[in-house]
Amino acid sequence: MARETYPARLESKTLISEPSQCFHFEFVLDGMESFPFAAGQFVSAVAEDANGKLQTRAYSLASAANANRFDLCVNRVPDGFFSNHLADLTDLPPGSIVQVHGPHGHFTLHEPVTDSILVATGTGIAPMRGFCQWLFPENGPDRSNGKDIWLIYGTRHESELYYRDYFEALAARHPNFHYLATLSRAPESWGGLRGYVQEHMARIVEERAARLGQPLPAPPVDPATPPAELSFDIYAYICGLNNMVASVRESLAGYGWHRKQIVFERYD
Ligand SMILES: Cc1cc2nc3c(=O)[nH]c(=O)nc-3n(C[C@H](O)[C@H](O)[C@H](O)COP(=O)(O)OP(=O)(O)OC[C@H]3O[C@@H](n4cnc5c(N)ncnc54)[C@H](O)[C@@H]3O)c2cc1C
Repeated sequence: MARETYPARLESKTLISEPSQCFHFEFVLDGMESFPFAAGQFVSAVAEDANGKLQTRAYSLASAANANRFDLCVNRVPDGFFSNHLADLTDLPPGSIVQVHGPHGHFTLHEPVTDSILVATGTGIAPMRGFCQWLFPENGPDRSNGKDIWLIYGTRHESELYYRDYFEALAARHPNFHYLATLSRAPESWGGLRGYVQEHMARIVEERAARLGQPLPAPPVDPATPPAELSFDIYAYICGLNNMVASVRESLAGYGWHRKQIVFERYD
């Protein structure tokens, strides 16, 4: 049976990177008073393709819950149906509609909030923006509990650092939020971090363990511990394409991290 979908009206669409054809979308669910979700979850968008076949794709919510509104961050995938369908929607004149259902998914922050390492590449930044809006709301109390939140964001080029201004401003306002943007194909002129997210994550994990006097690799958790009683003082949240996610998970496992400490979302 088809799921109930809600019409989401496109309120604005902004090209945030010309070279990678990435767009920021703002939608409004006119028929709903509120659209509650946990930061990091996704919606499923549904549309008919050229053959009249219904296609469904998942898109991470790129905002924290905010009345009946939500944001998405989507890049065109060459020859892909849905990403281009969204990228071709027009916000002028207003009125483009996308059918969605949700929210879905378990890519959400553990509470109470602990030290957290957020690792993203490409549009994997979408749920991280949602996390950050929830942790550090513009209006309302900070929910980060003063814990250290590292965001390690890797792209090839500087032009693909989506939402850079937002994250830099957040880091300037919150000393416990650390924004680490790293480029794998940086030009000589780039003064920031270089290389892949894994290398920077490894440094953070090692420095933190040394600072807290914790052994690395971490000693194994007693396998008899009931899952509900497992709790850790740090979690990692990883989002992007599978190659990166697999490689980050493997490095963390090498540091003795428990699989429950590693929360991830794969886009492919
Ligand atoms: C839980 C979840 C959340 C997601 N959230 C987002 C999001 O916030 N933003 C977003 O842009 N995409 C997101 N995706 C990917 C999205 O669902 C689609 O797969 C993507 O838009 C391509 O769909 P398409 O119909 O254009 O291409 P398709 O015709 O389905 O196929 C294109 C090919 O590209 C691969 N692919 C998928 N995503 C990408 C990508 N980002 N870059 C390069 N290749 C890709 C697919 O594996 C497939 O082989 C998410 C996927 C999942 C599972």
